[in-house]
Amino acid sequence: MIVTFSAARCRRAVLSAVVLLVILRPVHAQPSKPAKAEKVSAVAAKADRTDSLALRKLFTEALLRGESYDNLRYLTGTIGPRLSGSPQAQQAVEWGKVTMEKAGFDRVYMQPVLVPHWVRGGKERGEIVGNKGKEIRVPVCALGGSVGTGGKLKAGVVEVHSLDEVKNLPEAAIRGKFVFYNRPFDDALIEPGTAYGRAGDQRRSGAIEAAKRGAVGALVRSLTSARDDFPHTGAMAYDAAVPKVPGAALSTNAADQLSQLLKASPDLQFELEMECTTLPDEKSFNVVGEIKGSKFPQEIITVGGHLDSWDLAQGAHDDGTGVVQSMEALRLLRAAGFRPERTLRAVLFMNEENGTRGGTEYARLAQVNKETHLAAIESDGGGFTPRGFNVEATPEVLAKLVRWAPLLLPYHAADITAGHSGTDVEPLQAAVHPKALIGYDCDSQRYFDIHHTAADTFDKVNRRELELGGASMASLIYLLSKYGL
Ligand SMILES: [Zn+2]
Repeated sequence: MIVTFSAARCRRAVLSAVVLLVILRPVHAQPSKPAKAEKVSAVAAKADRTDSLALRKLFTEALLRGESYDNLRYLTGTIGPRLSGSPQAQQAVEWGKVTMEKAGFDRVYMQPVLVPHWVRGGKERGEIVGNKGKEIRVPVCALGGSVGTGGKLKAGVVEVHSLDEVKNLPEAAIRGKFVFYNRPFDDALIEPGTAYGRAGDQRRSGAIEAAKRGAVGALVRSLTSARDDFPHTGAMAYDAAVPKVPGAALSTNAADQLSQLLKASPDLQFELEMECTTLPDEKSFNVVGEIKGSKFPQEIITVGGHLDSWDLAQGAHDDGTGVVQSMEALRLLRAAGFRPERTLRAVLFMNEENGTRGGTEYARLAQVNKETHLAAIESDGGGFTPRGFNVEATPEVLAKLVRWAPLLLPYHAADITAGHSGTDVEPLQAAVHPKALIGYDCDSQRYFDIHHTAADTFDKVNRRELELGGASMASLIYLLSKYGL
């Protein structure tokens, strides 16, 4: 698996180099004007050398004096879980502001935004109840946004593997029961993010489809390849026209066990108890740190991660790493002595996990203020070893970005391809049409083992991997700021 993966990456790197050669070739292929050709080529080579030295400087600063890791230790360890509307989310806002002020950015400010305030309440409990009354306790957790069970909720279980299966079953098979969505991750896919995307409809819409057919609740297999006892939470939706029934995640081990027991005893029951509830919206903030551009201050490059996290753990890889890397990218540029030509903004978005209200508000304000956004980068795929960047842009803009790949090759961050950027930056597309939306791309093979679970903790983050990510983002920002798109 790893061999195939590396080979694919090498092929892409070679491709990038080929693209560069193709772009440079016309310069060398003009025999009638040798003097001019030599001059142009010398200028290109000099720019290349200057840029490669600049990137080396950023990576050296990150690896020797990087601050991401210590910042992350504070955010995850001292502040901890920071679900939107919680006191810890507010602490994170204040910490983000102070940290960027200390870093000496030109301007640090907050953007008020109203966020949903859902609370888990007491610890959840789930039990498989066998025909003879034998009870087996299994790990469960409420899905974000779920209603509570109002005491103990006990009912039979019907197992399905898709939303369509629920739609096609006779209502009598579902009414009064839990619908148990047990479609696993597709482990044959190379990118776990793709498997996550394909399995996600069960978590998001499972309770709605179940309730339409009279079910009492939805039990959803955790969205992961890992086989363990950690239930994975995550946002679920309701439809105003359909009764709200509770939605809970089962750990993969629990899902396998329930499926197996159902085969032997189709009449077994499940007992669920959850005290979660939604409170009125709370006031919160995006936090923005800005360095003014020296030549084109009206052109903005945004880099961000999300400050909120789920409540079960410290939100280390999701998305503490993106938050500290975004602040660090700007700090690195300043520490390495670069004065950016364009305006740079590190944005700590609020409420990505259960509403994207922060990202939406940032885009709305950009539109209201008639801002020009050149590009927006998001780091929200974990803080693992860099691979490169996923880009949403026209083929022409993507080709321009790919031209820089050889500069990133020494740092193994040269894989620049079309792909999903990030939930918080995407609202910018309709609002102010940036030329590129970019997602920082790192090795994601371990990300969904811990994603949205109690295991997403600081000890899962490697200092060097984290700092290399911040330097990769700073490098791309350096190039974007210098050359535009
Ligand atoms: Zn995230």
